[in-house]
Amino acid sequence: MSKTKSSETVKVVVRCRPMNDKEKASKFELMVSVDVKLGQIMVRNPREASEHPKVFTFDSVYDSNSKQIDLYDETFRPLVDSVLLGFNGTIFAYGQTGTGKTYTMEGVRNDPERRGVIPNSFEHIFTHISRSQNQQYLVRASYLEIYQEEIRDLLSKDQSHRLELRERPDTGVYVKDLSSFVTKSAREIEHVMNVGNQNRSVGATNMNEHSSRSHAIFVITVECSELGLDGENHIRVGKLNLVDLAGSERQTKTGAQGERLKEATKINLSLSALGNVISALVDGRSSHIPYRDSKLTRLLQDSLGGNARTVMVANIGPASYNVEETLTTLRYANRAKNIKNKPHINEDPKDALLREFQEEIARLKEQLEKRVGKKKKRRQRRRGGEGSDGEDLEDGETEDDEEEGSGDYWREQQEKLEREKKAVLEDHSLVAEEKDRLLREKERKMEDLKKEREVGEMLAAKVKAMESKLLVGGKNIVDHTNEQQRMLELRRQEIAEQKRREREMQQQMESRDEETLELKETYSSLQQEVDIKTKKLKKLFSKLQAVKAEIQDIQEEHIKERQEHEQTQNELTRELKLKHLIIENFIPLEEKNKILNRAFFDDEEECWKMKAITRIEDDHQMMSRPPSAVGYRRPLSHHAHIAMRMKPDMRYKAENILLLDMDLPSRTTKEYQEPVIAPKVAAALEDALRDEDEIQVDASGFHSSSGPTPTSKKSSTPTSPFSPCSPASPLYPQSRGLVPK
Ligand code: ADP
Ligand code: MG
Repeated sequence: MSKTKSSETVKVVVRCRPMNDKEKASKFELMVSVDVKLGQIMVRNPREASEHPKVFTFDSVYDSNSKQIDLYDETFRPLVDSVLLGFNGTIFAYGQTGTGKTYTMEGVRNDPERRGVIPNSFEHIFTHISRSQNQQYLVRASYLEIYQEEIRDLLSKDQSHRLELRERPDTGVYVKDLSSFVTKSAREIEHVMNVGNQNRSVGATNMNEHSSRSHAIFVITVECSELGLDGENHIRVGKLNLVDLAGSERQTKTGAQGERLKEATKINLSLSALGNVISALVDGRSSHIPYRDSKLTRLLQDSLGGNARTVMVANIGPASYNVEETLTTLRYANRAKNIKNKPHINEDPKDALLREFQEEIARLKEQLEKRVGKKKKRRQRRRGGEGSDGEDLEDGETEDDEEEGSGDYWREQQEKLEREKKAVLEDHSLVAEEKDRLLREKERKMEDLKKEREVGEMLAAKVKAMESKLLVGGKNIVDHTNEQQRMLELRRQEIAEQKRREREMQQQMESRDEETLELKETYSSLQQEVDIKTKKLKKLFSKLQAVKAEIQDIQEEHIKERQEHEQTQNELTRELKLKHLIIENFIPLEEKNKILNRAFFDDEEECWKMKAITRIEDDHQMMSRPPSAVGYRRPLSHHAHIAMRMKPDMRYKAENILLLDMDLPSRTTKEYQEPVIAPKVAAALEDALRDEDEIQVDASGFHSSSGPTPTSKKSSTPTSPFSPCSPASPLYPQSRGLVPK
C-alpha cells in the first residue's frame, strides 16, 4: 500500500563560496553576484565587461555569507522530515572541485556552526525519534564510494573487495553485500561516518585528487513502525542518500592513450551519464532514459524521475578564472530544475529490517516462554505428585512474577540437587556401586540444569540486545529545555518558509511585470505609446541579445564536447583495430570461432563471460571428467595409480612436477679468466686513457690561413713521449680535433 502524491520537481539550490585567501591575494575579480531575495545568480563575462550579465533563477540561492544551519533549515530539513515520514530522499552536491561540495555535505565536523548536512541530519533524525510517541524506529547507515565505475564498501573490513549492482523487481536496484550498521544515537552514526571517511582516504595516494574523482554516497535508512487505525502494525521506510559527487570539471583526455585514456573516460563516466539522464528526463521527447549507462545513475534511479524527493546543491566559485566552469554548472543545474519526481511513502515494504527484528524478537520471546512454561508444568507436577520431597514453593506464584520466579526456580533446583547429592553421600545404607550411580545421575542432572539455564540466559540476552536496537521516543517529552528547543526550531522553520514564499512571490512579480507590459494597450497619447514601446523594445532587445549569447555559448560547448567524443572514438577505434589485427593474424580461425561461440554478455554484471565447455555444441552440460581422473590432471590406470605411490620410478610421477627430483645437468661453462696483455700494449692503452689536461698538444705543424696560431708554453715544448713531432701521429684521437691534418 502506498500513498501516491502528485509529482514535484527536483529542488535546485545554488551556493557560491567565498573567495579564498589565494584568490584574494592574487586579486581575482568577483564575477558572480547573488540576489538571495530573488533567488538569482548573475555572472559577468570577464572578457566582455559591457556584456549583459547572465542571469539564472533557482529555488533558492546562497551567497558567500550563507550559514550551514540556514541552508539546513530552509532546504534540507523539509527533505529529511519527509524521509522520517517514509519517503525516499536524495541530496546531491554538484560542482567543480574546490567549490564547497564536501563543505556543504560534511562541513567541519567538530564545529557546530560549520557542520554540514550529513551531521546535521544525524542530529535531526535522532532528536525526532526521541520526541516521538508510540513509534518504534530502526536506523541504519551504509557508506559507499564509486571510483572508476567500481563500487567500494567504505564500511567493510576488506577494502579491496568490489561490489556489484543487482536488481529485483520489487525493490529495484541495490548494492549486493553492502554492509549496513544499525545505530542507536547520533554519536554512533557519526562514528560510522568517520570509519568510512578513514577508509576512503586509506585507498587513495592523493586524497584531493581521489575525492575529486570519486562519488561518495552515505545512506541512512529510517524504518518506523506504528500501530495503524486498523489495529495492525505498519512499517514505513525512508531512505536518505547523501551524495558528494566527483568534481564536475572537464577531465582532459588530450594525449591520453590506452590505459590512461580508458581511465580518463571512466573517471567521469558516471557524471556524464548523470548529465545525459537529466537531459533525457527534461527533454520529454526521449522515451529512453539511459540509467543503465553508469553505476551512479543506476543506483540513484529513484532520485531522478523516480519516487524520491531530491535536492540538488550546485556549488560554484566566484572568481573570474572559474567563470567557464561556473556557467557550465549553472546550466546543468538549470536543466535539473525541470525533472519531475513522483514521491510516495514506502509503506510495509517486503524487505523492512524492522519487521524482521520484530518477528525475531517475538519468536525468541515465545521460545523463552515455552521454556518457562515447561518448567512450570514440571514444578506443578512435582508439587502434586511428590509433595514430601522437601520442596517449599510458595503457593501464590502467578504469571506476573515470571522473571523473578524463573530466577528462584533455578536456584531452587540447584539447591535441591545439591541437597540430594549430599543425602546420597551421607547415606551409608547404600552399596558403593549404587551410590556411585546415583551420584553420577545427580551430577548429570546438574549439568543439564546448567546448560538449560545458559540457553535461557542467552535467549534473554539476545532479546534484550535486539530490543535495544529498536528505538522508542517519548522519554523526555516533558523536558523543559527540550520543549524550548523545539519551539525554536519551529520558529526557524516558519521563518524559512516565509522567506521561501517571499522569494516565490517576487519571482512571480518579475515575470508578471513583463506580461502586464504587453497588456497595457491603451495609451493616452502617441508620445506615450512611443515611449512605452521603446522601453519595451529595449528590454526585449537586451533579452534577445542575452539569449543569442547563450545560444552561442552552448553551441561552442557542444562543439567542444563533440570534439572530445570524436577523439575518444578515434582512440577506441584504433585500439579495436589493433585487437582485430591480432586476432586475424595470430589466432587460428577455429579457436576464434570456438571462443565466439562460448562468449556471452552478462547483463547483470555488465561484462563478457565464457560459457562452460560442453561436450556437444547444444548440450549445455559441463563435460564430466572420467572417474579415474579425479584429483589428477589426466586419467590414470589403476596400475599407474598404485605404482605412483609405491615406486620411486619417475615414469609414474609425471603428474606433479614438484614430486620429481632435481636432475642437475653437467656443467658446460668455464670460469672467467682475464686475458693477458703485452706490456707494450698496456702502456699504449694507459696513455690513451689519460685525462685530456695531461695530454700535450703539439700544434707546431698547424698552419692556419686565418692568422698566427697562439702558441702556448705546453705546445712549444712537447714532453710526452706519446706526442712525437709528426702531426699525423695515430696516437691522438682524431675526433677531438686536437691534431691538425
Ligand atoms: P569540494 O568538495 O567541492 O572539492 P571543498 O568542500 O573541499 O570543495 O571546499 C574547498 C575549500 O573551500 C575548503 O577549504 C572549504 O572549507 C572552503 N569552503 C567551501 N565552501 C565554503 C563556504 N561556503 N564558506 C566557507 N568556506 C568554504
Ligand atoms: Mg570534496
